[in-house]
Amino acid sequence: MKQTVSLSQGRTYLAIPGPSVMPDAVLQAMHRPSPNIYDGELIDMMPALTSDLRRVAGTQHNVAIYIANGHGTWEAALSNVIAPGETVLAPASGRFTHGWAEMAEGIGAKVQLIDFGTSSAWDLDRIADALRADEKHQIKAVLAVHVDTSSSILNDIPALRKLLDDLEHPALLMADCIASLGCDRFEMDEWGVDVTVTACQKGLMVPAGVGFVFYNEKAQAKRATMPRVSQYWDWQPRANPDLFYQYFNGTAPTHHLYGLRASLDLIHSEGIEQVWARHKHLAKAIWAACETWAEEGALQMNVADRAHRSHAVTALRLTDGRGTALRSYTETQLGLTLGIGLGMEDYDGCFRLGHMGHINGQMVMAILGGMETGMTALGIPRGKGALEAAAAVLAT
Ligand SMILES: *Cc1c(COP(=O)(O)O)cnc(C)c1O
Repeated sequence: MKQTVSLSQGRTYLAIPGPSVMPDAVLQAMHRPSPNIYDGELIDMMPALTSDLRRVAGTQHNVAIYIANGHGTWEAALSNVIAPGETVLAPASGRFTHGWAEMAEGIGAKVQLIDFGTSSAWDLDRIADALRADEKHQIKAVLAVHVDTSSSILNDIPALRKLLDDLEHPALLMADCIASLGCDRFEMDEWGVDVTVTACQKGLMVPAGVGFVFYNEKAQAKRATMPRVSQYWDWQPRANPDLFYQYFNGTAPTHHLYGLRASLDLIHSEGIEQVWARHKHLAKAIWAACETWAEEGALQMNVADRAHRSHAVTALRLTDGRGTALRSYTETQLGLTLGIGLGMEDYDGCFRLGHMGHINGQMVMAILGGMETGMTALGIPRGKGALEAAAAVLAT
């Protein structure tokens, strides 16, 4: 590394899997004085906002909004349907499932965890065995992380729904689509998901700070049997408010709501099908480059099977342990920040690319070109022709 001139001045690029890049339209919508929270525009915009949110999640059912990050919505959702002592099943394909399971333990649930490691999607046969063994139906919910952002594994939620139906198991199907909403296809009602949790700082392109819990009638029926639910987490008044302040149990996240309005306008004017298609096409370009680099040398993709790769995030590994060094190079020398490895044993080898939300072809080429430059500077051995391979995908 002989480079002496830093090339990091200019607009930097945070290419991590959340928070994601914020569109100018979102930033501009938020740049305003505080609005009246008792009367006027903010109150009037709520019905369309909640219905446009439901459209992104593919549901006609209820949505409760929380001033919270993703961890907050994990606890909110659990608090409405899982009483202390009840059991949840958590099939884990990475760190985030463990995190949700730990939160369930924190509210007094018993957790049955099936660990598929950090590079494998769910094995539905093993989940079936666990559900079949639960003859008394003590498992009240399955905590299903759609895209585990740590591993970049995409799990098959419709297949899990079918399994529950085939086994006539009444557990709620609870999905975490925090990383996938607005990136990978997710259709709550069509897929038979009972509770969906998500947050705003990934595919929804808004700064971290609001989270959403969508729930259907089956989940509401379970809610109705709960001995108690914390007043703050209770989803009922939030989803069916008589007064504006009930949406948030207090002061509204005023500026986030304006940002969210702008982001929903972007998503729906592009069209959700097109949003998914764009993420898929861009992800394929990233995979083509990474697969080419991986043909020889040190780079590996964490997920071998394309069918189980998310279109929003890609977890990678440098077998020589220089993932942290590469991130450090691209950040300090090029102004490109890549994501840290999460939940992996070889922390310094692993890193992740975020490609969720407000992302286009030139941004993908910037990520890949930055990686190529960094690996050149560090002398990391790799296959040749990665950028050409990505360009060929983008050009089709
Ligand atoms: C980001 C993420 C979370 C955590 O969200 P926070 O806003 O950081 O609390 C949980 N689950 C998944 C799948 C995520 O991608």
